[in-house]
Amino acid sequence: MPAKGVLVAVTADVVIAGGGVIGTAIAWRAAAAGLDVVLADPAEGDAASLVAAGMLAPVSEALFGEGALLRVNLLALARFPSFAAELEQVTGHRVGLRREGTLAVAYDAGDYAALMRLTAFRRSAGLEAEELDSRACRKLESFLTPDVHGGVLFPGDWSVDNRRYAAALREAAAAAGVRVVRDRVTAVLTTDGADGAASADGVAGADGQAHGRARGVALADGGEIGAGQVVVAAGSWSGAVHGLPAALQAAVRPVKGQLLRLRHPDGMPPVLTHTIRATVRGADVYLVPRADGEVIVGATQEERGPDLTVTAGAVHDLLHDAMSVLPVTSELVLAETCAGLRPGTPDNGPIVGGAGSGIPGGVLLATGHYRNGILMSAATADAIVACLTGQPPAAEWEPFGPGRFLAGEEER
Ligand SMILES: Cc1cc2nc3c(=O)[nH]c(=O)nc-3n(C[C@H](O)[C@H](O)[C@H](O)COP(=O)(O)OP(=O)(O)OC[C@H]3O[C@@H](n4cnc5c(N)ncnc54)[C@H](O)[C@@H]3O)c2cc1C
Repeated sequence: MPAKGVLVAVTADVVIAGGGVIGTAIAWRAAAAGLDVVLADPAEGDAASLVAAGMLAPVSEALFGEGALLRVNLLALARFPSFAAELEQVTGHRVGLRREGTLAVAYDAGDYAALMRLTAFRRSAGLEAEELDSRACRKLESFLTPDVHGGVLFPGDWSVDNRRYAAALREAAAAAGVRVVRDRVTAVLTTDGADGAASADGVAGADGQAHGRARGVALADGGEIGAGQVVVAAGSWSGAVHGLPAALQAAVRPVKGQLLRLRHPDGMPPVLTHTIRATVRGADVYLVPRADGEVIVGATQEERGPDLTVTAGAVHDLLHDAMSVLPVTSELVLAETCAGLRPGTPDNGPIVGGAGSGIPGGVLLATGHYRNGILMSAATADAIVACLTGQPPAAEWEPFGPGRFLAGEEER
């Protein structure tokens, strides 16, 4: 049972701050590897993991200059099916993995030329892409607007129902023995020099050097959880956890995304099979179908700090753009509007690992997954469990350690 306001130290091998898909996937796999795990999270309600569209889209997310990110996203996609299959087997619940691919469409010759440039880049990286004229696009998706100029099918993109997936992860973690504490982690605690006293926000001082080793975390209600290893996986809120070097705290920022959930009225057959992506009036829009008849329409990308309000303008624009691509959208039921905070970083890459100068021993980070945290969750769990058990993570993670944000601090 979740405990709140535990003043006496709960102890474990590992404490994880944050119970979105990243923290929960790590908790499940760490417990399955034989570690005693406590996960602390005040509430899951605001987690980006529950807002996301659930695309597993390394191909249509691949952009110029992000080769290392593409490699880790491909590692993540390759890992996802076996991870999801085990999750389904352990819990008995389906997570809605779909493998139809993404159909990216363009409206005019200019859009099409831009899509072709990206397609050439993606092909040069070994990714599969099939060019389609307007007719072929509409053969694949019969409800697409006739205004479509042409498109490209990226069969290497999949999707998952992220809410089902997150619920299954929580169930699997509980079944593996993970204990949940319903409280906010305020600081990583370390043993600090000769007296072993805890240092909260001064763990890594202004010099950026680590002082001591992890000995647990402090909680908002005044309690502590004792553990020799700490994983900070608090998504866009990770920077509010004290006890990390200031440069690392500053590296994670919230990037707001507003999104709609539509559903088919009773008796209406599915209007979509593939994930559709398009650019309408310069804004990107996507529509992601679910097996249960839901269609996700997303998403805005806004630098507004920790703001979770849903605005009339965003709902209007998303509906307008979705209807431009798939006019039949107007007949679907507007079931939910929501907003979430992607954990963004300066180079758009995740922060996964620890053991760097300036970071206390035993402290690991698993955050900054930005637009691809659902995709990267299984592979992140593998990487962090490898670190927790003294193994090297896969080589694809090497560019994404926390040390890349600490170079300046080391020099000071
Ligand atoms: C609109 C939108 C669409 C997206 N679409 C996709 C997509 O299609 N595919 C994809 O792969 N990704 C997508 N993402 C990104 C994805 O949602 C995130 O990268 C991912 O959910 C990050 O997971 P997380 O567990 O790190 O963070 P979160 O899911 O945000 O979870 C963080 C958790 O930490 C808890 N917490 C906060 N502070 C503390 C603290 N101090 N102590 C303890 N716990 C704390 C919170 O309560 C929360 O439960 C999308 C995001 C948005 C907003």
